[in-house]
Amino acid sequence: MTELPGKLAKIIGSLLCLLGFHDFKIIDATLGFGSAGGTSTVQCRRCGQVITRPN
Ligand SMILES: [Zn+2]
Repeated sequence: MTELPGKLAKIIGSLLCLLGFHDFKIIDATLGFGSAGGTSTVQCRRCGQVITRPN
């Protein structure tokens, strides 16, 4: 039963990812100028999904 908490955390984690609640870390950021704005490239620590979003 010792592996249960880890498994449970993984299951909860993937559920959160499915619902769109990712655990993002910023892997790249671009500074914007004027009205153009910059973007951040973020990656989820759990599922590894990479998303580029406006700052
Ligand atoms: Zn995720």
